[in-house]
Amino acid sequence: MFFSLENSPRFPNQLVDSQSQDHATERSFDDLSLDDWLSRFGRIYGKRHDKHTTEYMISRLVEEVAELVNPMESQDKAQIAPNLADVFSWTCSLAFKLDIDLSSLAWQKYGQHAPRPSWSQAAQPSLQEFSMPQTLRDWQKFISKVYQEENLRLTPTNSLVAMMKDVGDLAMLNRKRAPLEQITSKLAAILAWTLTIAQLLQLDLATIVDQKYDDHCPVCTQTICDTDVCHPFKTMYVSFSTETPDEEKYVILDSASTFGFKTLVNSTALLESTRDLSASLDLISKSDAACVLLPSDPSKQPAYGQVFEALACYSMLSKGNVWLFGRDKTKGLGEFLERVFANEQIEVTPYRDVNNLKGLFENYLQILQDKRARTSQSKK
Ligand SMILES: [Zn+2]
Repeated sequence: MFFSLENSPRFPNQLVDSQSQDHATERSFDDLSLDDWLSRFGRIYGKRHDKHTTEYMISRLVEEVAELVNPMESQDKAQIAPNLADVFSWTCSLAFKLDIDLSSLAWQKYGQHAPRPSWSQAAQPSLQEFSMPQTLRDWQKFISKVYQEENLRLTPTNSLVAMMKDVGDLAMLNRKRAPLEQITSKLAAILAWTLTIAQLLQLDLATIVDQKYDDHCPVCTQTICDTDVCHPFKTMYVSFSTETPDEEKYVILDSASTFGFKTLVNSTALLESTRDLSASLDLISKSDAACVLLPSDPSKQPAYGQVFEALACYSMLSKGNVWLFGRDKTKGLGEFLERVFANEQIEVTPYRDVNNLKGLFENYLQILQDKRARTSQSKK
């Protein structure tokens, strides 16, 4: 490895520090240090990412990097710029989530013995004029200087390919639970590639990040992103009990699809092993919303699986986007959940029959759709 974590100071309190935050917002983006950007993305998205696993966030970073491919092929700088800003935003969010002091680690990695590609003949350039870079522009200048010889041979496209390799490595290292320093080394590398691509295209990363994000989430325009309205709602986790009749299953799946959701269905409501638990968790972590149909008589079968699912949905997704339905509120699993987990304020919606279920569910989906439409209206 190119650096060790041992000597690195911990990143000063990554939780939102209102004083430094105010300070950061007063200054123009030109003056924001890399740490300031990290805090800024932590403030905008930290609440939202609390609900997300590291795996999910890495998969989003992979998506963002992949979205660079088309504009890069057509050399469309106007499209590349906001996508590159997104890659930077996810890199910061991941560093914030993992409590990584990205600037110190990047400085350790590139400040002295910067790793060089195998084909490179370059010696370490003289960096006397550099102390640890502070602003993003300083960082861009610094990384460009470190790799000035290599950059003569690099194109933006092959830099993107190299960045994709590092993003792939990051996902693999995280999946294998590699030591944190290997993961942080990859994040630093992704930052370096982001700066390199900007440099090769003669874009100023600080400017393009500021243009897209400024001090707020570009989608909901709020300084702290509101999950309920902002999250790209695409996927719904759906779970049925073993006694859910087919007609009720069709109604749920149909309505979800009418409102544009792709559904991930857990086919095993019964809990037989810890593997079932992790399968549910995996599906829930890939979802933006959830609908769980509870059995009315849990004594007929062990319903722990669905108790676990309902709680996991509540903790991993925004509560407003989790819908639990039970045939009879006064008995069964619904009653059990509401009583035992009163602190979680679990709410189970009772329904009489299949038509009633359809009406209630579509009503919830409509409320959500209206709320989102109002938000996008107010942005215009
Ligand atoms: Zn938002």
